[in-house]
Amino acid sequence: MDYVIDCEKISKSYGNISALRDINLKLEKGSFLAIFGPNGAGKTTLLKILSHLIKPTSGTVKINGILLHDEDGEIRKNIGVVSHNSFLYNNLTSYENLEFYGKMYNIPDLKNRIAEVIDEVGLTARMHDPVRTFSRGMMQRLSIARVLMPDPSIIYLDEPYTGLDQHAAMKLRDILKNLKKGDRTIIMITHNIERGLEVCTHVAIQVMGRIAYFEKIENVDRDKFESKYFNTVGKEHY
Ligand code: ADP
Repeated sequence: MDYVIDCEKISKSYGNISALRDINLKLEKGSFLAIFGPNGAGKTTLLKILSHLIKPTSGTVKINGILLHDEDGEIRKNIGVVSHNSFLYNNLTSYENLEFYGKMYNIPDLKNRIAEVIDEVGLTARMHDPVRTFSRGMMQRLSIARVLMPDPSIIYLDEPYTGLDQHAAMKLRDILKNLKKGDRTIIMITHNIERGLEVCTHVAIQVMGRIAYFEKIENVDRDKFESKYFNTVGKEHY
């Protein structure tokens, strides 16, 4: 079986802190994994390792069959990361932000590509407005547009629903459903069980650096999953 993401026994320590312990994770092309788990479980650390931003202390990671240990960073071009940092310039318009990014990464046919990604996130009407006038939800959508510019085949989203009101969350949900079309492989960290379960193909619960639960969505019963989550991480984290 060819996996897009294939981790074997990855562990990561920061001094005395074990952020990840023996993680095995295999995802096929087109999978959308939602990872739930309390703060400090190592979820962001896992995404950083899978983005080739940091190295595990031990274990191996293959992305598209390529061992990251031997890779010089080229693979990052194929990976889009939507993190807590939007990497947007408030005084530039949406268009200018994407143009700046597109020039930096030599994206061809830039004008058309910007129009496409801005349309994909529903911001065409605000294309020439400065980002400082945007709501949190609009900024979140523009950071997704930025990540989509090079058309990455892998996308990671670190808690994209945080701070969004209901309206913004619904818009984001529609964009994520759209992202899933085609054969992109996506991993999303979220605390929002409802939002996570409705888009994913696989679900994981990460606790204390380990994947405590991993299942295909068709085998997940929503109510049972909630009680599983409570029992695994404690109600205070819900
Ligand atoms: P999560 O995303 O699930 O909240 P993190 O991956 O951010 O978890 O953190 C996992 C553990 O690793 C935490 O105990 C955190 O304090 C620690 N940690 C994360 N990054 C660093 C770092 N750069 N230096 C030291 N400790 C870190």
